[in-house]
Amino acid sequence: MTESNRLRIAIQKSGRLSTESQQLLKSCGVKFSINEQRLIAHADNMPIDLLRVRDDDIPGLVMDGVVDMGIIGENVLEEEQIERQTLNKPADCLKLRQLDFGSCRLSLAVPTEFSYADASSLEGLRIATSYPNLLRRFMQQKGITYRDCMLKGSVEVAPRAGLADGICDLVSTGATLEANGLYETEVIYRSMACIIQSTQTQSPTKQALIDKILSRVNGVIRARE
Ligand code: ATP
Ligand code: ZN
Repeated sequence: MTESNRLRIAIQKSGRLSTESQQLLKSCGVKFSINEQRLIAHADNMPIDLLRVRDDDIPGLVMDGVVDMGIIGENVLEEEQIERQTLNKPADCLKLRQLDFGSCRLSLAVPTEFSYADASSLEGLRIATSYPNLLRRFMQQKGITYRDCMLKGSVEVAPRAGLADGICDLVSTGATLEANGLYETEVIYRSMACIIQSTQTQSPTKQALIDKILSRVNGVIRARE
């Protein structure tokens, strides 16, 4: 019994988007309390279940129709979309709107002593990243060939460890780059959190609830502007 009459919304379990995702839903009038041990939180006052998962899992859960909605960084959404298109897996979902948190940029960065003119300075070099698809798209558009160094974490230490010549990583203030002897040379993608919907939601009652939540999200964000 994997279908549910309750609307399923996937949010990040713990990380940079989790507090604000919960806060946004609470501001929309969804009443729930989180038990850290539990994957699912049932709302008390609406037929809504919150699924608390790794952020990387959220786009796929929405694209596969396992959940109806999700709150996710555009960077992770776009990365998964390109990945799935390459693999011919379901890659559709509706971006309902951009949100007002989760701002960051995916940037190229190189060691302080690297003399960088433009992205072509990286021709033939090795670049560490957790976002191979966004990086590939950017480098293909520029006609630059490079070598991959795929890391899910610790990307910023790769150059010093001798694993890569440069990195492509998320930046918000630049403090982490500086602490690792790197400097930002080029922004390749600007990102905010966004709220997405599955294209597979069929039920009119669920759709009505999605519309109600979206209209409240719009109101909450307008009031915060
Ligand atoms: P998870 O355990 O859920 O996989 P994570 O470590 O991949 O978590 P976080 O570091 O919590 O992810 O970041 C989640 C999202 O927050 C990012 O994908 C991005 O959209 C956004 N974000 C905002 N600012 C930053 C930043 N300075 N560095 C990284 N991500 C940021
Ligand atoms: Zn993640």
